[in-house]
Amino acid sequence: MNLRPWLLASAVLLFTACQTVPLTGRSQLLLLGEGEEVRMGLRSYEDILKKEKISDDPALNAQLQRVGKRIAAATGKNYQWEFKVVENDKAINAFCLPGGKVAVYTGILPLTRDDAGLAAVVGHEVAHAIARHGGERMSQQMLVAGLTAAVVVSASDSRKANMYAGLLGAGAAVGYLLPYSRLQESEADRMGLIYMAKAGYDPHAALALWQRMAEESKREGKPPEFLSTHPADGTRIRQIQQWLPEAMGYYVPHSEAAPEAASGGEREKAGEPAKDAAREGAEKPAKRRK
Ligand SMILES: [Zn+2]
Repeated sequence: MNLRPWLLASAVLLFTACQTVPLTGRSQLLLLGEGEEVRMGLRSYEDILKKEKISDDPALNAQLQRVGKRIAAATGKNYQWEFKVVENDKAINAFCLPGGKVAVYTGILPLTRDDAGLAAVVGHEVAHAIARHGGERMSQQMLVAGLTAAVVVSASDSRKANMYAGLLGAGAAVGYLLPYSRLQESEADRMGLIYMAKAGYDPHAALALWQRMAEESKREGKPPEFLSTHPADGTRIRQIQQWLPEAMGYYVPHSEAAPEAASGGEREKAGEPAKDAAREGAEKPAKRRK
């Protein structure tokens, strides 16, 4: 059998499918086009939301819209962003599907506590989507199973559709607890810190959030869903500490005096002194919304 044409085709495919992750510059292999990924993300999001109870609590919705819009602006990504609060106090969960489709479950809110804590979770989940971690995982699956983009995009059987939604990032919401790789988790942490900083939230709040997550894991005995795929272990906490100086370089406190926080990046590497005053500003509900 002549393998040369096949090898050549594979080489072309690999070459054209290589992309670079924003902010970190890592090369990745993607066999789905971004448009296909976004279409699948939207379909999964609609399917999931049909089965969940969407919260009509005005304060919670206002909080998620306020935080979500600022994080979305900080990414610079032109998605059709959507942010929904799912009423389920038992689910410590949040996700962002390709295309900027975000869901936050009320069960995670006691841990996020305030805007900055919520920004840490949303920033992290949004980073998975922007870095196309779901697409990457999907591509690995396609390679293993020998599937083409056309086959997965048009999957109509609900079990398969659920599995693809899980691969794309919906995880526990569709009954698939699929952890991202350690590398992807680290990347989402690092990018998420930068997004929250650009959005005007002190990235130190992410460190505090993961420390609360670690306590919650211990208290519960068995880690709840989000924590089983997002271990709040020593490695994560140490890495976040290491990346804080980088993220602080993007941090402009969102306050009355500095409403254009999302522009970010101009500030010199900031030290500790600005932290407390800034944190206070970032946690207050925004009086000025963009
Ligand atoms: Zn994650």
